[in-house]
Amino acid sequence: MKKAGIALAALLLAGYGAYRLSKSRTFQLFGGLTSRVETDRRVVALTFDDAPTPATPAVLELLAAEGVKATFYCIGANIEKDPAGAARIAAAGHELGNHTYSHLRMVFKTPYTIASEVERTSALIRGAGYKGPVTFRPPYGKKLVGLPYYLRSRGIPTVTWDLEPDTYFPGDAAKIEEYAVAGARPGSIILLHALCGDACAADRAALPGIIRGLKAAGFTFVRVSGLLAEEK
Ligand SMILES: [Zn+2]
Repeated sequence: MKKAGIALAALLLAGYGAYRLSKSRTFQLFGGLTSRVETDRRVVALTFDDAPTPATPAVLELLAAEGVKATFYCIGANIEKDPAGAARIAAAGHELGNHTYSHLRMVFKTPYTIASEVERTSALIRGAGYKGPVTFRPPYGKKLVGLPYYLRSRGIPTVTWDLEPDTYFPGDAAKIEEYAVAGARPGSIILLHALCGDACAADRAALPGIIRGLKAAGFTFVRVSGLLAEEK
């Protein structure tokens, strides 16, 4: 009985460890993971997830008005639904990243599913006319062993974020802006949930203030792959 108890405890501990590992924004087993870049230069990257969506044109207009380039992590199925939306992001000079085809939690998936989720999406991104570098962001920040292994074998960098202002102040544009401007450091990767419907309105409202506040603090905005190139 005692042995069974110890075995159960070990199993639970291993399970908890795997859960923590699958969620970590700063560590993965293979190929590394970037949540922020080590640099002395005051550069930051703005990132948006789950593109393209019906709200994407509004975000593109806000970015154009401020003269800022950003990175949009695209869901393959969303590109299929709205190829013109994806093409518009690319045509505006932003970076398109891979956020899987169907936005699954990429944990305990077969190698076939992993390859298909990544490759279908990369093909759709190219089909949208985007020619630049493509990085990968796991849905929900979730990955375990198979996904990092596959991405490393394909030479695709995994990118998360170090600043997610709306986590703490959902729906409060003023607080989202304040938190982002105060929290950004050289090399920060900022995740803003600005592409959904009404639930993302506060992020869209905060966006111009975040950009102006960070510019006033001496920051310039780069695309994710440009930020990776800044690594010391
Ligand atoms: Zn997502």
